[in-house]
Amino acid sequence: MGTPLDYGHKPYNYYGAYLRKKYDGKRVFKIIVDGGFTCPNRDGSKGYGGCTYCNVDSFTPKLSRSLPDIREQIEQGMERAIKGYAAEKFIIYFQPNTNTYAPAHYLKMMYDAALAVNPENVVGLSVGTRPDCIDAEKIALLESYSAKLDVDLEMGMESIYNDTLAQINRGCTHEELELALNLAGNTSLDLCVHTIFGFPWETREMMLKYADEINRFPQIKFVKLHHLHIVEGSVMGVKYKREPFKLFSLEEYTDFLAEFIPLLRPDIVIQRLFGLSDYDLLIAPNWNLRKAEIQTYIDKELERRGVLQGVNYLPVSSLLI
Ligand code: SF4
Repeated sequence: MGTPLDYGHKPYNYYGAYLRKKYDGKRVFKIIVDGGFTCPNRDGSKGYGGCTYCNVDSFTPKLSRSLPDIREQIEQGMERAIKGYAAEKFIIYFQPNTNTYAPAHYLKMMYDAALAVNPENVVGLSVGTRPDCIDAEKIALLESYSAKLDVDLEMGMESIYNDTLAQINRGCTHEELELALNLAGNTSLDLCVHTIFGFPWETREMMLKYADEINRFPQIKFVKLHHLHIVEGSVMGVKYKREPFKLFSLEEYTDFLAEFIPLLRPDIVIQRLFGLSDYDLLIAPNWNLRKAEIQTYIDKELERRGVLQGVNYLPVSSLLI
């Protein structure tokens, strides 16, 4: 666990600075890999259609989509990162769909194949999944890589409310996330959860409560925060076009973050403050800015307001009194 606000000059612990510190200033990039998995709420084992906000393509930058072979995906991803950003080290990131939704022996074959590409420059393995697709055998498999690499297990929390999880067809409850976090709690894995803010039926007070829930788990090291954005190819996209509903403007979302970040435990590293799909898939909200411009806007505004991660954090013990 890092010390409070250990990582960087922003008023929150941010991932870029964490990586630079951890890897001696080297430029480290995540290389997205599509292992061809599906999800239990897509293939019928728990439901069909997937989470209502999801179009898997929207996770992945356009250039990484539809590449057939893992080796080829990684080689091309590394080449782009080297040419475009002078990347020196890499984290192999199984991102789209549920990347532990297969028997452990099959997962091992996939992870091994990915990690065999340019291994001397790979420093980490990151696996995105759902809490209901994690078990002790899969955790042991992931841990087996951690002698040589940093291994990051990323799970969708999305909302802390089961009513929301049901409405978005998650096919998974908050209690299942809690179980998975506890199962992976005393391991060498770095745990990350991601959240979505802005479901139209959740109030600001409800969303601020996510911070207490995240803070409750000392094993959570990273978070990815997202605002709800509606993409083409999703069930929510179809509904939104028929009946648009209120979504965050950039100003409103920043205002929300300015209240949320001070509530978040100060040692947690924020990997992402917002989500953005490619503009060809984005329906709304369209803030009409590039990713870097959005990041700059939010950072400047947080700084202007004197926001500091953790200053309003309430340790769990004080919540129980
Ligand atoms: S959000 Fe994740 S779990 Fe839900 S359908 Fe999309 S890829 Fe699957």
